Amino acid sequence: MRAKTLIALLAAGTLALAGCGGDATPDPTTVDTGDSATSVGPTTFEAGTTMAELSKAGKIKIGTKFDQPGFGLKGLSGDPEGFDVEVAKIIAGALGIEGDNIEWVETPSKVREEVIEQGKVDMVVATYTINEKRAERIAFAGPYYIAGQQLMVAADDDKITGPESLKDNPDSKVCSVVGSTPAENIKEYLASDSQLVLFDVYDKCADALRTGQVQVVTTDNVILLGFVSESDGKFKLTGDLFTEEPYGIGIPKGDTTFCEFINQTLADNEDAYNEAWSSTAGSVEGAADAKLPEPAPCA
Ligand code: GLU
Repeated sequence: MRAKTLIALLAAGTLALAGCGGDATPDPTTVDTGDSATSVGPTTFEAGTTMAELSKAGKIKIGTKFDQPGFGLKGLSGDPEGFDVEVAKIIAGALGIEGDNIEWVETPSKVREEVIEQGKVDMVVATYTINEKRAERIAFAGPYYIAGQQLMVAADDDKITGPESLKDNPDSKVCSVVGSTPAENIKEYLASDSQLVLFDVYDKCADALRTGQVQVVTTDNVILLGFVSESDGKFKLTGDLFTEEPYGIGIPKGDTTFCEFINQTLADNEDAYNEAWSSTAGSVEGAADAKLPEPAPCA
């Protein structure tokens, strides 16, 4: 697969060079406003846009998870790996920024809006559900994937069969993460607030399930599948999906041009998107195929 990508890149590079060196004029995908415009290969970004600034700087700061197998997991290599990381690389690549010039910033659920608002990152790609409350503070490009909330329990647990069984089992503690949609959504299914245990990141919930401090972990199905696949048969998913979680790319509020650029980039790179999915979260047993959803209008 790597060889194929390399060949595709080389072919694209040759074409780009041919375009620049020969009679053919490069075909900018956005309007060239003159001297102050910034070029990435044949692409020219309008001066003053986030794209022009980032491509000129040649580097980008991206917020993602460091503890979620299949999406953003930091291993011994030092850089996080997973679907969110690959999606982010597709966008950075369209700005002319290669992997080495991406600064990855660990962004647990609770801090996502604030790191965008404070300019600590240029974008957040972190299993980030698009919703109205968050959209009051930041903007979302995408969605680029639609997940749904589910429950994960020990493989030998037959009491918990879905969210409706939680009230009847008040001693079964349910773990989720502060500032996440699943932590809010689950509340109506619980016997009392004390049934809910909250950590800052999901791998602490998985550890607590392993050691028997909690009996249930709840978040998006695809995040849970990653933990199941790493559990040596000790964890399983139970019950159906009971919410819809469309994943968006968080950017500063009001940056409609950047939002549209991201959506267009994903639409133009469906092959890379499919490859990103099948080599990461999509390679886990039980994962469905991913299909790039229709983007929501950029507000
Ligand atoms: N997609 C949900 C959310 O954005 C849960 C996953 C997460 O916490 O990152 O809150």
